[in-house]
Amino acid sequence: MTASSDPIIEIRNLRAGYGETVILEEISFSVKRGEIFAILGGSGSGKSTLLKHIIGLYPPRAGEVLIEGKNLWALEGRERTELLQRFGVMYQNGALFGSMTVRENVRVPLDVFTYLPLAVRDAVAESKLAQVGLLAAAEKMPSELSGGMRKRAAIARAMALDPAIVFLDEPSAGLDPVSSADLDNLIKRLANDFTITFVMVTHELESIFAIADRVILLDPQTKRILAEG
Ligand code: ATP
Ligand code: MG
Repeated sequence: MTASSDPIIEIRNLRAGYGETVILEEISFSVKRGEIFAILGGSGSGKSTLLKHIIGLYPPRAGEVLIEGKNLWALEGRERTELLQRFGVMYQNGALFGSMTVRENVRVPLDVFTYLPLAVRDAVAESKLAQVGLLAAAEKMPSELSGGMRKRAAIARAMALDPAIVFLDEPSAGLDPVSSADLDNLIKRLANDFTITFVMVTHELESIFAIADRVILLDPQTKRILAEG
């Protein structure tokens, strides 16, 4: 059995890249359950690449990705699917479907990711919208929302399947400082109230200081972790 104090994510000596190109080398860190873990680094340092390798979109070149003690890439079929269902993801620039209402968007979490038909019931979508403070906007179209509301709807969608770990790639990109701080507060509240682990890619030092329990800084020169704290 996995004790709850064991890391929910453990990355061991990960090497990652695309084609011939290596982007990340010797990446090792672990994330505790309920923690807000931030991945920081300049543009092109491999933040999104790291996220995509943790969530199983790409296989590591070397090293291991352990989720709740299980090696994601050693699992197949149902076991693998069940592990992937522990994740909720908001991709960088992850857009809402413009032709659907906010509620409909939340009802359609990203099935491209778990390879299953995943429509959730209206009641579930409603409870997620309530958790992000968007119930009153359920019938609106995405184009009617502010930038911050759109981000909250995307977070509600990422949480639609009650994930243990939510990955957010640049959640406050494009937001003004006030909306960005509101979003930070929301993430903090969700982590506390529902013991959700957040792994968050960000450029925003303010976000890190405000909510992150731990942070790693990626260095594009060495392709390694430059600092952690
Ligand atoms: P940003 O802050 O701009 O989002 P990032 O830290 O998320 O940057 P990545 O998107 O992980 O950086 O990209 C790291 C490097 O990998 C870049 O040089 C990028 O061009 C390259 N890269 C990213 N995705 C792919 C891909 N699918 N195929 C080939 N190269 C890629
Ligand atoms: Mg990125």
